[in-house]
Amino acid sequence: FPLDLSISAVRRQGRPLYIGLVRDITERKRLEKIKNEFIATVSHELRTPLTSISGALGLILGGAAGGMSDSMSSLLTIASKNSQRLSFLINDLLDMEKLSAGKMQFHIQPFELTALLQQAVETNLTFSTQRKIHLQLQNPLPEVFIAVDSQRLMQILSNLLSNAIKYSPENETVQIAAKTVGAHVRINISDHGTGIPEEFYPRIFQKFAQADSSDTRQKGGTGLGLAISRELVEQMGGKISFESITGQGSHFYIDFPILKTLVKTA
Ligand code: ADP
Repeated sequence: FPLDLSISAVRRQGRPLYIGLVRDITERKRLEKIKNEFIATVSHELRTPLTSISGALGLILGGAAGGMSDSMSSLLTIASKNSQRLSFLINDLLDMEKLSAGKMQFHIQPFELTALLQQAVETNLTFSTQRKIHLQLQNPLPEVFIAVDSQRLMQILSNLLSNAIKYSPENETVQIAAKTVGAHVRINISDHGTGIPEEFYPRIFQKFAQADSSDTRQKGGTGLGLAISRELVEQMGGKISFESITGQGSHFYIDFPILKTLVKTA
């Protein structure tokens, strides 16, 4: 049954002393399961009223109410943006729960890499323009096919691109590139932003982890994006990793096996 085993070595009067610790983690697993189910239920219950609030706000802002003062319309815009943020958070919580429980369904098909990367750039162009960041697709790209769920890959690429944009100063470039490495293709999303502090490396893919968790944090976000991205990549048969230099920027890599039987036609 589930056990946690840790062995540590210390030196006592010059001689090594080994200390072993065995813990039954059945209870921890049970509590974790209850917590996950609770989050899933609450998220589901929140989604329905929130959809109705967002819909109503959209209708009002779309002109259905007419003759609104400027201050009223700016207040409604704030309410609408925040209900959208809340709905992103709820979707992330539901995705995380499904992934942890192994219940996420994937529609895996062969896709040409270039088309996927072009779509990811188009999807994130509005956000990068708002933040005054140049979003660039490196050319030429390897002409290969990979087997993925294209919507889920878009979600991963958007998470990584929006982070790269968010943590870059204005007028910088965020690049998406790809190259083949043996039997794999490596997608590389790079930025010249703040970089990631080294002490944060071990926690970066954990749920709710953020390098800056202070109340005065400027960047927003939930700390779920990378946890979800790693699960999605791994459950589709890929690998995610990163390299970073504080103050100089970061690279996030996603590796997928290349489909051998498909050759790109002109
Ligand atoms: P969120 O962006 O919502 O906070 P993520 O899981 O996407 O959550 O990222 C977790 C943390 O990792 C971020 O809060 C940030 O501290 C750090 N991070 C992620 N991507 C980058 C990046 N490109 N540059 C600098 N820091 C990053």
